[in-house]
Amino acid sequence: MIIDQMPSNLSEIKTQYCIIGSGAAGITLALELEKKGFDVVILEAGNFEQKSKIADEKVLETGFPTEVDKRRFKDFGGSTEAWGGWCTPLDESDFQAEEKIHYSGWPIKLSDLRPYYDRTTEILNLEYSFFENKKIFEMESEAQKIGSAFKLYQFSTPVTRFGQKYKEHISRSSKIKSYLNSPVVEMQMNGQGTIVEALKVKSSTGLHTIKAKHFIFCCGSIENARLLLSFSRKNKTPIGLGHKFLGKGFMEHPNFSNVGTMMFYKKDPWSKLVDVNANGKRDHFFFQVSEAERKKHGWLNLRFKVYDVEHPLDPVDQKIYSLYTETLKRSFHPVQEIGLSCEQFCSDMNGIVLREDADRLGLWNVNLNWELTELDWKSYTESMEFFARKLPSLGLGFMKVNKDFLERKIAPVGNSHQMGMTRMGESFKDGYVDKNLSVFGVSNLSVLGSSVFPTTGAAAPTMTITALALRLADYISLKG
Ligand SMILES: Cc1cc2nc3c(=O)[nH]c(=O)nc-3n(C[C@H](O)[C@H](O)[C@H](O)COP(=O)(O)OP(=O)(O)OC[C@H]3O[C@@H](n4cnc5c(N)ncnc54)[C@H](O)[C@@H]3O)c2cc1C
Repeated sequence: MIIDQMPSNLSEIKTQYCIIGSGAAGITLALELEKKGFDVVILEAGNFEQKSKIADEKVLETGFPTEVDKRRFKDFGGSTEAWGGWCTPLDESDFQAEEKIHYSGWPIKLSDLRPYYDRTTEILNLEYSFFENKKIFEMESEAQKIGSAFKLYQFSTPVTRFGQKYKEHISRSSKIKSYLNSPVVEMQMNGQGTIVEALKVKSSTGLHTIKAKHFIFCCGSIENARLLLSFSRKNKTPIGLGHKFLGKGFMEHPNFSNVGTMMFYKKDPWSKLVDVNANGKRDHFFFQVSEAERKKHGWLNLRFKVYDVEHPLDPVDQKIYSLYTETLKRSFHPVQEIGLSCEQFCSDMNGIVLREDADRLGLWNVNLNWELTELDWKSYTESMEFFARKLPSLGLGFMKVNKDFLERKIAPVGNSHQMGMTRMGESFKDGYVDKNLSVFGVSNLSVLGSSVFPTTGAAAPTMTITALALRLADYISLKG
């Protein structure tokens, strides 16, 4: 059932599970809990109007601009009402701790998520499972020769807009009640701060109390952290034993365009690459430094793709490429441009802090800082230099890295992937939630979404968010 407003005659609601937020995370979890026979309430601040903004909070940004206010949406379906539908799982190595990288490693492994990744194929309208993909095997051995790896992205087709895809089903459900225009504004805890007793929703019909056996926050990375920080300040008691991580370690996938150019010989299997990446295809390949090389150098993960040249070619580069083609007398693909999407180090200097001013719901606004560390820059520039060295030595083609990029003069832009700030850890000493997404020290509170990612790899986040939602539903139902 979908209800437009909290009814004015209903001051208190009781349910088994209360999910806050109806994005990819909240809807996937609700549907899965429904399948298991549970009653669920979804509280959603927005409604069916795309980009409807129930709260007029403003994020003040310092560092590089992520334009976060333009890159998240408050509506039924959350940000999937605007997302691009690029899907891929994290790499096995993304879950592993790296000696040289502080705070790296998840408390779960790829094998823990793999069955759930497989099940997202239908939810995300994908063509096939990523783990049985023959296309990638074909190129893999060639890629290994240059210390590289190939990564495939599939496009969600038709792109899964969760609000639209599941509106009908949820409207008819007798197990799921979704209240729109119902922002959560308060959290009431027991005296010890170990149990959430109730949430308060502020709607046009007044202030309503929601009681549940278990509460799951699925409000997106920034709002998950902002709400929990706000409630902590309001209650004058930090929520969760790992509260020192709350709001810290914001991560994006720093995106750089025009970091260089590349020219491939017309040689199999590389020729297929150009074809596979053509417009309108349901999948796309990315290059990646191999795990072994990354480990050796202590580099973060990244992916780069080649696309048709969008910026004028540097005249000197143009000359060099012409010389290659003339003197080598080989057949080349046209020069292509390189775009990068990178993993970012989970640094305490990036994150949100509450300000003193509040939005019209009475929730404190935040400042967001987003910068790159030395490790980030070093990983990105050295990885690109690595590729530029490897390609010609293996007779595959040529790559020219943009000097401005190597000199760190090109600023990254955000990729609409806000992550981190309620990180998953082994204990409250290294995380805010545990491996089952329960907040350390609070028995009936979970957080779901990319805010729990302790590290992000270079893969777009939504497939992992959806897999985590399916896994959380299993955990909750076993816990009883
Ligand atoms: C333009 C764009 C392109 C993108 N492209 C891709 C892509 O190609 N691939 C990919 O993997 N990812 C992409 N993303 C990111 C992707 O959309 C998000 O990772 C994903 O949608 C997050 O889902 P979520 O459910 O965790 O959070 P959200 O989608 O942010 O949903 C959170 C929900 O919580 C609600 N909420 C917030 N505060 C409250 C409150 N106080 N009370 C009640 N409800 C509240 C919000 O209204 C919202 O509906 C893109 C994002 C954008 C904006």
